[in-house]
Amino acid sequence: MTASYIGRFAPTPSGHLHFGSLVAALASYLDARKAGGRWLLRMEDLDPPREEPGAQMAILKALESYGFEWDGEMVRQSDRHEAYQQVIDRLFSQGLAYACICSRKQLEPYQGIYPGLCRNAGHDTEDAAIRLRVPELEYHFIDRVQGEFRQHLGREAGDFVIRRRDGLYAYQLAVVLDDAWQGVTDIVRGADLLDSTPRQLYLQELLGLPQPRYLHVPLITQPDGHKLGKSYRSPPLAADQAAPLLLRALRALGQQPPCELDDANPRELLDWGSRHWDATLIPRTLTLPEAQIR
Ligand code: GLU
Repeated sequence: MTASYIGRFAPTPSGHLHFGSLVAALASYLDARKAGGRWLLRMEDLDPPREEPGAQMAILKALESYGFEWDGEMVRQSDRHEAYQQVIDRLFSQGLAYACICSRKQLEPYQGIYPGLCRNAGHDTEDAAIRLRVPELEYHFIDRVQGEFRQHLGREAGDFVIRRRDGLYAYQLAVVLDDAWQGVTDIVRGADLLDSTPRQLYLQELLGLPQPRYLHVPLITQPDGHKLGKSYRSPPLAADQAAPLLLRALRALGQQPPCELDDANPRELLDWGSRHWDATLIPRTLTLPEAQIR
């Protein structure tokens, strides 16, 4: 990899960071540093109603107490609405996106794949969601850890929302525009986003944006198989647990920190990790039960 590597960590402030977020942050950080690249921080605050008060500050504090240093100023997606809207207007006027007035209830039987009811209805954009038309084609890419991933957009994703009916911009659109705008070359994130990637590839293709490399790390799961997160009461990353949790996150990522590091501080652990990072050691699995990690 070249010196032009740009990576990023892009937390959503719907809750605090937990061990699963630490694993994703650490992987993207070490991958960037090993490559001599930049590591950016982007707050994905697209959904104020779902934002936990104080979460943005808590995320920054946690990253700092765990020794992470990002390059440049943090970017907030809430400052980027104009850029998102411009692209939506363009896609709409080109007929690549359309307005949808289907209710949640109406769509219940379709299990997340939009059946195209409003596709050719010509609705006005007011009080409507905006959906992107997807082609009846398979998209695929080679993930650096998970290998080849394929998805037929029409059958497995369907026309997807890029702006919600309540006016909020959708993650799929914002992430693609911001990664391109920030020059991100390498996306390292949790495997829960693997099946979002083909939709993002389609958007990149449509908008003439470069395709980054992808690396999806295993999702850390709870005993019940769920993703760690606020709703399952996983504890926030405590400042006084930084060193042991960083060591544990390194092991979750298949890295082999020597026992001399048992007394190291967070900065020393990140420095060791940056020098010794080997992405080929990351377990090739979509999920990793937290209880299995030493
Ligand atoms: N904001 C997303 C999350 O917290 C991550 C987005 C991404 O890395 O593409 O799950």
